[in-house]
Amino acid sequence: MLPGLMQDRPLSIIDILRFAASAHATQEIISKNVDEPMWRSNYAASFKRSAQAAHMLQSLGLKTGDRISTLAWNNHRHFELFFAAPGIGLVLHTANPRLPDDHLVYTINHAGSRVLLLDRNMIEIYNRIADRLETVEKVITLTDTARTEGLYDGYEALIAPFPEAFDWPMLDENAGAFLCYTSGTTGDPKGVLYSHRSVVLHGFAAALDGALGFSAFDVVMPCQSLYHATAWGLPFAGCMAGVKFVFPCDKFDGASLQELIAAEGVTFSGGVPTIWTMYLDYIERTGQNPGSLKRVIIGGSAVPREMAVDFDRRGVSVQQIWGMTETSPLGVVATSTPALAERGREAELDHIWTRQGRMMFGMEMKIVDDDGNPLPHDGEASGALLVRGPWVLERYYRSDESALDADGWFDTGDISTIDELGFMRITDRKKDVIKSGGEWISSIDLENIAAGCPGVRIAAVVGIFHPKWEERPIMLIECHAGSEVSDEIVRSYLEQHVPKWWMPDRIFFEDVPMTATGKIDKKSIRVRHKDALWKKEDVSQ
Ligand code: ADP
Repeated sequence: MLPGLMQDRPLSIIDILRFAASAHATQEIISKNVDEPMWRSNYAASFKRSAQAAHMLQSLGLKTGDRISTLAWNNHRHFELFFAAPGIGLVLHTANPRLPDDHLVYTINHAGSRVLLLDRNMIEIYNRIADRLETVEKVITLTDTARTEGLYDGYEALIAPFPEAFDWPMLDENAGAFLCYTSGTTGDPKGVLYSHRSVVLHGFAAALDGALGFSAFDVVMPCQSLYHATAWGLPFAGCMAGVKFVFPCDKFDGASLQELIAAEGVTFSGGVPTIWTMYLDYIERTGQNPGSLKRVIIGGSAVPREMAVDFDRRGVSVQQIWGMTETSPLGVVATSTPALAERGREAELDHIWTRQGRMMFGMEMKIVDDDGNPLPHDGEASGALLVRGPWVLERYYRSDESALDADGWFDTGDISTIDELGFMRITDRKKDVIKSGGEWISSIDLENIAAGCPGVRIAAVVGIFHPKWEERPIMLIECHAGSEVSDEIVRSYLEQHVPKWWMPDRIFFEDVPMTATGKIDKKSIRVRHKDALWKKEDVSQ
């Protein structure tokens, strides 16, 4: 080999904020916080505060490779810790407060975290689980000095004495940086340990125009949680582009988001569909418009077409994204191409709204049949979606086994198609596909279609045991407040859009349960309604 003669500087997370603090020093960072006035600051100040936080963490005796956990919302202190902790070689475990207590305890113990930093309204959760935490030696409250009475050590008081500069160490780029857990929809949560290298490369890819396409003119309000797969890498991609950040803390309701959009000129946001359902409800009810908001990325679950149409008529473009904790999480983003644009605006939008996204450099993808044979990229053939790339996991934290096949592919557990333009469309999660009499019904397609029926807020579909067909779909419908939607209305709407054999055997009008990561909780729906069909069958046949 003839070695290349370029600088061998490791990819490092602190360099992302160092860059933003130098190239976009006065660009603003605005943050809501729990029971505090709005925080108004900038990159230069955040970098200094990260240095203070790093000194403080070091003063606690933490060593390279040690894990610390946060139980924190989308706010500036959490953002600073995203750089301070990995910057000194610690691993930041962003615990998910929406997990059931047992799972939350499991993740913090499994991470082996020595320090826990929590927002002040997480204290109740902490007090509930404190006895069961095996490795936590110190608890710090992420709050200002004025309000620490009766709380654990206050973050501001702890960092205040330290210098605003830090001699950041040069770390191995493969060192662990973030520990994110899957939400454990099957079994215990599993830890995915991102490295400096994977985070930086993922950030670069996310910032590209074919993905999130950030520029320094963007005002970005992350509404995907910082604790869920690093808010889809937004903190890193945003710093690389020098965007203005607006952090909503824990206030994701329509009124709070609308207020921030209007006050701060937010141009870009992202989050799971549930948040945008609430937002659209709110602006419709109050007769407002999205103002400066121009783009919204939505993922985590399939985006109902109606949601994209609704945003579009209000002047906001919707891009769907697909990913998972195991992929850092960005896999694909639905952005256009000249070949797609040539098909005309309507076809272009339809394609973008009904596909999860387009393949991007760095994330190899293929679909395979049950025997592992590759399937064509024709938009028709659907099979198991396998991915490979520098920000895809190799093995779960504390596991001795690789999670990959012999050729290095990771099976996502999703079923999808890929078309000739490189767009991927999820048809279902492997475990959610409904097998009815040897044929497959896509629960996602049925949900999306039902969500288009006027008055329907959320539709959820699961397959449950049926004595004759093996499985048949049932549907849960949650309606918009004040809407009158009946079984008959939903059925006659579905009849216009789906084959007869896709028609749900029963429709229940009730609240749709959600998981800790904002997805429809299909496991609990299956448990709740597991006997809904065979009992009915017994009686009626
Ligand atoms: P969990 O911990 O529940 O696995 P993740 O966020 O890692 O949480 O979930 C990843 C899964 O979410 C994917 O495998 C896929 O099934 C689903 N998902 C993510 N984005 C989309 C999308 N745009 N459309 C449909 N499903 C999606």
